[in-house]
Amino acid sequence: MASLLEKLQQRKQQADASKRDKTAKLADGKHKYRILPTWRPDSTDVNFHDFGMHYVKHAGQTGAYLCRAKTYGEHCEVCEAIAAGLFAAAGNEDTKKLLEEARSSGRVLMNMIQVDAPESERRPKLFELPKGLFENDILPTMITYIENGLDLASLDKGFEIEIEKSGTGKNTEYRAVVIPVPAKPLPAELMQKVVNIDEWVKLEGANDQGRSKSMMLLSQITGGATGGIARLGGTSNAGLLAHNDALDAEQDAELAALEAAFQDGGTKEIEATPPAPAAVETAPAATPTPAVTATAAPAATAIPSDEDVDALLAALG
Ligand SMILES: [Zn+2]
Repeated sequence: MASLLEKLQQRKQQADASKRDKTAKLADGKHKYRILPTWRPDSTDVNFHDFGMHYVKHAGQTGAYLCRAKTYGEHCEVCEAIAAGLFAAAGNEDTKKLLEEARSSGRVLMNMIQVDAPESERRPKLFELPKGLFENDILPTMITYIENGLDLASLDKGFEIEIEKSGTGKNTEYRAVVIPVPAKPLPAELMQKVVNIDEWVKLEGANDQGRSKSMMLLSQITGGATGGIARLGGTSNAGLLAHNDALDAEQDAELAALEAAFQDGGTKEIEATPPAPAAVETAPAATPTPAVTATAAPAATAIPSDEDVDALLAALG
């Protein structure tokens, strides 16, 4: 039986989960961004996190829950229930469609600033990137830079990256190029405003309401068959984990629509037209320019006021 402390902590996690930032999406057209360093204490750690969400929709209701397979590479009970349901639903096209829509799509989370955003929006945000853009463009570019002694995400010696988003729905395309001159140094205090992505995804995983609602809706879709099969446990969901990028792209349009519907009237940061990872056009990475000597921003000892950081960010534009 859960102790009082555990119950209180659980309640607090629910409250924290409902308060926290929603993810930001890339803006339409051509825009400049700065990728920010890792939120983890060890500065050599990675600055991105894999991510996926299930949106289970049935009878006018939506259940949203973290996909542990896409986010952590672990067993995901929602994936498993969907796989079991699909197996049981062979031949029933309506049920199959609902289950396929409930599958998660692979994303990558990063702290970034849209440098050319209006001043009020020019701050670190938790961006949700299509997996294709990250794997085909951003990741290889970050590697090339590091191999050449440069760091794209460095606060004081980093570079701006220009991401072009064109098309809509399933035909959305992305291309990313690095602006080959060192960008303006960013203040070290900025790192106090980045999202701790480990904590962020952990809270999503602690959303027991989202979890039970998703499982309940899945059970309703399959007429109860899913719950029974899922309870047996041990069923492999490898088939679902292996599903291809084309399917991911196809689901993106539907997922974004579901996501928007789920966000209580829509958050302004949730876009109507979703990305299509499979359609990423890979642009060649710009030749790195040798970094100029930049003086590192002094390490902050006092916590700066929001105004201080805002003023520094305003100077970026
Ligand atoms: Zn899953």
